[in-house]
Amino acid sequence: MSDICSTPWPEDPTPENQIKCTDCGLYEHGSRMIWGEGNPEAPIIIILDNPGAREDRDGNSFVCGTRQTLQQAAHEVGLTMSDLYITFILKRKPVRKYDKEDTRRICMRHLQRQLQTKQPDLIFCLGNVSVQSFFQDTDADVKSLRGKVHEVKGYPTAVAYHPLAVRRRPNLKSLFMEDWELLANHYRNIRSFPEKK
Ligand code: SF4
Repeated sequence: MSDICSTPWPEDPTPENQIKCTDCGLYEHGSRMIWGEGNPEAPIIIILDNPGAREDRDGNSFVCGTRQTLQQAAHEVGLTMSDLYITFILKRKPVRKYDKEDTRRICMRHLQRQLQTKQPDLIFCLGNVSVQSFFQDTDADVKSLRGKVHEVKGYPTAVAYHPLAVRRRPNLKSLFMEDWELLANHYRNIRSFPEKK
């Protein structure tokens, strides 16, 4: 399938009452909070570990490598931005050492509220940090969980390698794409035979 020209997906603004969150102390790192991007009403929520940069030093928006790879994969399996919403375990990017376990546990409260509000049809966790945090299992990993849809916190959940890992290790690309295909097929099945809620 053809390459796409990646474009910045619209940012979902952080709710006013959360914008000054200091709960985990990561605000001291100086990176701004990013709540999510894509379609806030999308049926599929993608969970990454933390946001990457959306602007360069001069404040011009750009699409980082993680998002380029993610957008390309979505395109290859026939999913569009309207199907997808991307959010994060940590809403701020850490830029120095921090207490990983505690910080993830604290910030996950935001994600849990997002899920309660949005009630997605499917969740797609990318990378071990996302998987371990969302599955609440420090031993969980993509390698052993990929290739099938799990039920986590009541949501059908698939997993795949982090797009950055795929960029660094091209031999992961075929596995990455298998998991995107699994996601897209599962999504099409849900849409064809919607369960009565
Ligand atoms: S990373 Fe999460 S919990 Fe920590 S300050 Fe930011 S929004 Fe709050």
